[in-house]
Amino acid sequence: DYGLAEADPDVRAIIDKEKQRQFRSLELIASENFTSRAVMEAVGSCLTNKYSEGLPGKRYYGGNEHIDELETLCQERALAAFHLDGKKWGVNVQPLSGSPANFEVYTALLNPHDRIMGLDLPHGGHLSHGFMTPKRRVSGTSIYFESMPYRLDESTGLLDYDMLEKTALLFRPKLIIAGASAYPRDFDYPRMRKIADAVGAFLMMDMAHISGLVAAKVVADPFEYCDIVTTTTHKSLRGPRGGMIFFKKDSVLGVDLESAINNAVFPGLQGGPHNHTIGGLAVCLKYAHSPEFKTYQGQVVSNCRALAGRLIELGYKLVSGGSDNHLVLVDLRPFGLDGARAEKILDMASITLNKNSSALVPGGIRIGSPAMTTRGFTEKEFIATADLIHEGVQITLEAKQAVSGTKLQDFMKFITSPDFPLLDRISD
Ligand code: PLP
Repeated sequence: DYGLAEADPDVRAIIDKEKQRQFRSLELIASENFTSRAVMEAVGSCLTNKYSEGLPGKRYYGGNEHIDELETLCQERALAAFHLDGKKWGVNVQPLSGSPANFEVYTALLNPHDRIMGLDLPHGGHLSHGFMTPKRRVSGTSIYFESMPYRLDESTGLLDYDMLEKTALLFRPKLIIAGASAYPRDFDYPRMRKIADAVGAFLMMDMAHISGLVAAKVVADPFEYCDIVTTTTHKSLRGPRGGMIFFKKDSVLGVDLESAINNAVFPGLQGGPHNHTIGGLAVCLKYAHSPEFKTYQGQVVSNCRALAGRLIELGYKLVSGGSDNHLVLVDLRPFGLDGARAEKILDMASITLNKNSSALVPGGIRIGSPAMTTRGFTEKEFIATADLIHEGVQITLEAKQAVSGTKLQDFMKFITSPDFPLLDRISD
């Protein structure tokens, strides 16, 4: 049995290059993080070899005594990390990732063509919350269910709860989804609960982006108001790639959530759980229940505020004027720029972030603080990071002015050509 370097030097070399890239760059993608060595050890372990369809104590395969112990430990730690009473809340730790977890909830609660409302993708929502364009039902969620998205108030960049209420009263959804991929503010769960109750809908929160912040109690607690809470495990939570679904143990609107959700996960949509991921998740959740994790998440939020403050000082406009969480959305339009070009230039300077083509800010970028906070950044380094981003934006502007064509391809050709006069400056 050979190690990777001997068995497959090609894959080893690619992993080494990716490791170098991660090590070298300023990682500012809001949905990414660096997980711990301990988590990676569990994920790279023999747990990947085992089939264990079913739940602890009720498996379709033999030899699961240790896997049962592991999954039970993971469930207990998940409830503890989010401060939940095991008599009132349960959790399924088997979802393969965030999108499957959401679809499993829809499968559990809805019939085909039932109505749902989630935040529109161009306003910061996630594909899996029901995205569709006027021409096409893009996400499976909008193919199998009838989706009526809600939106932000474009004048403030804040969620338009009044409009959500008005639309919900007309559309009468069976499920309202809170949560977002690009929203820098906290959610008004009491208001959303009221709206859900007024129309007899389930209320689900997809806390994928902010689950680490929720565990550390540095943002509002969705568990007080929601029936179901889903999450990914690899973003601010700092775990392996995966998903979880938390559900109330009481029956809600006549549905026994526990059995409906567990059945939707298996046999509804999944087969064998990824036990190596569940092992890594258990390790992550132990850390998520520690005082150090609370300190880390507090730093994530302070760092994001420092970044936001410096960007404002430098003359940038932020969607909603700032941030309550781990991300900021920057409007580059006042600089005559779009996010795509800035993303490319910053990438060349090893500053990794996302363009964010939202309806409010078609020319924007999304910047997150979790990953670099894991690498030890404090406010001071995030202020310096804002200055570096500013420099990159200035270079993008100069490059854009120097390119003859208007297409992104022309821009790419120019900035990657040997005569790009600003390349030396970027490499510094
Ligand atoms: N939900 C939200 C709010 C997200 O931001 C994301 C991913 O970015 C997901 C769900 C989907 O997670 P995954 O990529 O693991 O399917």
